[in-house]
Amino acid sequence: MKPPLWLRWLFPGVLWRQNTEEKRVFLTFDDGPVPGVTPWVIEQLNIADAKATFFCIGDNIRKYPGVFGKLRQEGFETGTHGYAHQPGHKTGRKGYFEDIDRGLEYCGKVNWFRPPHGIIFPWWVSEIRKKKLQVVLWDVLSCDYDRTLSPAEVTDNVLSNVRPGSVIVFHDSLKAWPNLKIALPAVLQWLKTNGYTTELLTTINQNKRKL
Ligand SMILES: [Zn+2]
Repeated sequence: MKPPLWLRWLFPGVLWRQNTEEKRVFLTFDDGPVPGVTPWVIEQLNIADAKATFFCIGDNIRKYPGVFGKLRQEGFETGTHGYAHQPGHKTGRKGYFEDIDRGLEYCGKVNWFRPPHGIIFPWWVSEIRKKKLQVVLWDVLSCDYDRTLSPAEVTDNVLSNVRPGSVIVFHDSLKAWPNLKIALPAVLQWLKTNGYTTELLTTINQNKRKL
């Protein structure tokens, strides 16, 4: 699944992918840390020698600080996904920004913010940037959380849309687990076979952040 270009144009200042022809992609995992799932993801990534960035929910960091600590120990990058995972159209502006601040209390200093449910209004982006956070959406959405999809369909969502510079979204959540446990190893294998490397978001040169 790929967001349409017109949507990207509405959101200047948001990172969707890296503008590059090199075969490098950015794996991202939302909604953790979750016991069982997140450690399994770490293991799969380590086996494949893959790097990834985790957008953590503050409330989960509060509940599972050990799992969060493991992400950092193992050299993965973390960003914030807010505290309570409420969509922006429900929280309103004030609630949205309070949730971001609360999430930051748990994840510490990070450079990246992924909006809960991917919901953000274009006029909020510059305000988030004032907090020294780069808003990251995506180029490829696996839809691993969708229980009506099979693991093969989730894998295909990724493999039929991936291109150099793609930011790819998975979820280290219980909801995604039935799809993730099949799709992630398949995607990692495909990336390796097809000569792609996986990188941390920090490796993206500021000047090359583009649609
Ligand atoms: Zn989420």
